[in-house]
Amino acid sequence: AQSATPNYLEGLNPEQREAVLTTEGPLLVLAGAGTGKTRVLTTRITHILSEKLAWPSQILAVTFTNKAAREMKNRIALMVGETVEGMPWLGTFHSICVKILRRHAELVGLKSGFTILDTDDQVRLLKQLIQAEGVDDKRWPARQLANLIDGWKNKALGPNEIAEGEARAFANGKGRELYRQYQERLKVLNACDFGDLLVECIRLFRENPDVLADYHARFRYILVDEYQDTNVAQYLWLRLLSQPSEARAAAHGKPIGQQLRAEIAAGLHEEPKGNSQSGEPDSASAPPTNICCVGDDDQSIYGWRGAEVDNILRFDKDFKDATVIRLERNYRSTSHILSAASHLITHNEGRLGKTLFTDIDDPDEEKVRVAAGWDSEEEARAIGEEIEALQRKGHALNDIAILMRASFQMREFEDRFVTLGLNYRVVGGPRFYERMEIRDAMAYFRVVTQPADDLAFERIVNTPKRGLGDTTIKKIRDHARSRNIPMLAAVHEMVETEELGAKQRTTLKLLALNFARWADLIDNTSHTDLAEMILDESGYTEMWQNDRSAEAPGRLDNLKELIRSMEEFEGLRGFLEHVSLVMDTDNNPDLDAVNLMTLHSAKGLEFDTVFLPGWEEGLFPHQRSLDEGGRSGLEEERRLAYVGITRARKNCHIWFVSNRRIHGQWQASIPSRFIDELPHANVEVVEATGNYGGYGVGGVGGNPYGSSRFHTSDPFTRSGYSSPGWKRAQANATDETGSAWGNRSGHKTTYNGGPRTIEGE
Ligand code: ATP
Ligand code: MG
Repeated sequence: AQSATPNYLEGLNPEQREAVLTTEGPLLVLAGAGTGKTRVLTTRITHILSEKLAWPSQILAVTFTNKAAREMKNRIALMVGETVEGMPWLGTFHSICVKILRRHAELVGLKSGFTILDTDDQVRLLKQLIQAEGVDDKRWPARQLANLIDGWKNKALGPNEIAEGEARAFANGKGRELYRQYQERLKVLNACDFGDLLVECIRLFRENPDVLADYHARFRYILVDEYQDTNVAQYLWLRLLSQPSEARAAAHGKPIGQQLRAEIAAGLHEEPKGNSQSGEPDSASAPPTNICCVGDDDQSIYGWRGAEVDNILRFDKDFKDATVIRLERNYRSTSHILSAASHLITHNEGRLGKTLFTDIDDPDEEKVRVAAGWDSEEEARAIGEEIEALQRKGHALNDIAILMRASFQMREFEDRFVTLGLNYRVVGGPRFYERMEIRDAMAYFRVVTQPADDLAFERIVNTPKRGLGDTTIKKIRDHARSRNIPMLAAVHEMVETEELGAKQRTTLKLLALNFARWADLIDNTSHTDLAEMILDESGYTEMWQNDRSAEAPGRLDNLKELIRSMEEFEGLRGFLEHVSLVMDTDNNPDLDAVNLMTLHSAKGLEFDTVFLPGWEEGLFPHQRSLDEGGRSGLEEERRLAYVGITRARKNCHIWFVSNRRIHGQWQASIPSRFIDELPHANVEVVEATGNYGGYGVGGVGGNPYGSSRFHTSDPFTRSGYSSPGWKRAQANATDETGSAWGNRSGHKTTYNGGPRTIEGE
């Protein structure tokens, strides 16, 4: 039956084909950008399904974003056709963990309808705990604790596993205790936060060997994309599922966390040799899972969120007899784009190093373009014009992306595009579901589906205004605490006593009755009708109807849009779950629109034309990485630049400006060192469109930008601003590294006042 080459294998190069066909045993595909790693994964699943090596439900595939999961599903459906029933377990680590936890919630002390808190709720809850501990929350902000806890969870560390020193990092040693209280409160609220999804799932596996054994036996094939960006918790999770020896360790109740990690670091966790002869029954019944990971060490960009590039570098130690396949042919980008990116990344030390080539050799192909502007408004205007020009030439907006270092850069483009009437979408960012009115509405829905959700309850108990002041709410909270019940249940009890004033009692009685009535309707009313009913009967819609502010009509439209968007889901619960998981809310996927996103969200994606604005010292590389001083932060920034450039198929346009407004403050800026590090042969410097008051861009000597702009006529020079790096770059206009603009490694920027609070994404 296997005589003819199946369709899906046609067109793959020999190495790709080998990666698809090596289905048994551990496999690592380690290769640069655009070499077809993701395509190999998709084809591999198709192969497993069409050869009937496993049922769909026996395949577990992990992608980095929900969007990537959807795309992979669509491609597999296309390749496999209608013949295969069901779909593999395909999603992000988080979404797969949710699916598993929902089935076994009781085993980790949750109920199956548990809520997933977002950062906002998390911070609000922590703030309450911090205040209750008598800690000054101005000095020790909840957000900082939230970050610490996230970091611990990324490393799969519970409150008792945090090293002494680390635990001191918050409020003079109260960090651990607050973490412990926080976890307790989450259980009472029947909730978990994002980090918990993995940690609780790991705990589930470790404490319930039979459950783990079931999943281990179920998943015959595990596939992981973007493996270079897995964190410790994800790594442990994968090992538990894929290694029978880990399953045995779990059965013997070995603790998770530091000890396991130490053992792994010491190499003690390699598969025992010859275990098939050892006569252990569980190893015989549970052969090693076939795990296939693909990734690129040069694209590791989530170190700041706990990702450990070591995971990929250590793969062949972790998985005995692992096959490692390298792919070297890039199918995505032109040779100029590929050379520019490959050259840039050679400035990093400690890489595995890879060869990359492309056959895409179009005589008209454009070099990577570098353009300068006066300020960010100019940058947005010029890029807007270029996009309109592309559109007139027949390019689809969908094939164009603007990739930014920091999300605050986005507003300028959004404003500009709204003015131009140019369609755009924000990928991977908080937008629609982050709006106040949407969050309020969702809070109502959450209380209806999950009456123990106190955070949601507190958010809306007095929205719209019902004359319930802080004192009343505190009384409810205290009552709930002392009785260890949810606040809504506390209300039910309190309205029967004299504890509250008569007016408050009447109001709360009505509200509690309403919630009970809405909850009764869940199973026999369409969820969109119910949602509309809740917003009407609670007075929430009316609140905005009576609001005379300029934003109110827009908010009402958003609420309508919310109800409309719910139609695509089966019920209120499914919808709420979707929203809590949607990290990448791509609005209007059907519209032809320019894609706006951060560089971090762009991983794995590709576009014909890519604009990379804001390549300035202090923004990119961002100030934090410069302040750190060491190499690692800067090298992660450079990898981010590598990711950015390699997203482009045909055109890559890099921009920098001389003046940027950051958090309302104008900052003078100098071009990013990454611009210096691009190879001259693949780059073209273009005149920007505007009038820069004597800031001409032109080749003077070895410096493609001309010498006048940054020294003589620059107002910032006169006010004492200098750019030593730039001068040095001119001095070594050609050096032995092959960069026409000099190698500025070791250069340290000296000006201060740069952006300090740029978010990682
Ligand atoms: P990244 O590192 O950016 O995630 P990747 O290695 O996952 O990249 P893919 O996205 O799988 O690369 O592939 C890049 C592009 O090359 C895609 O458009 C893909 O369809 C195409 N491609 C991959 N392999 C081949 C092939 N053998 N023939 C033609 N096109 C291919
Ligand atoms: Mg990929």
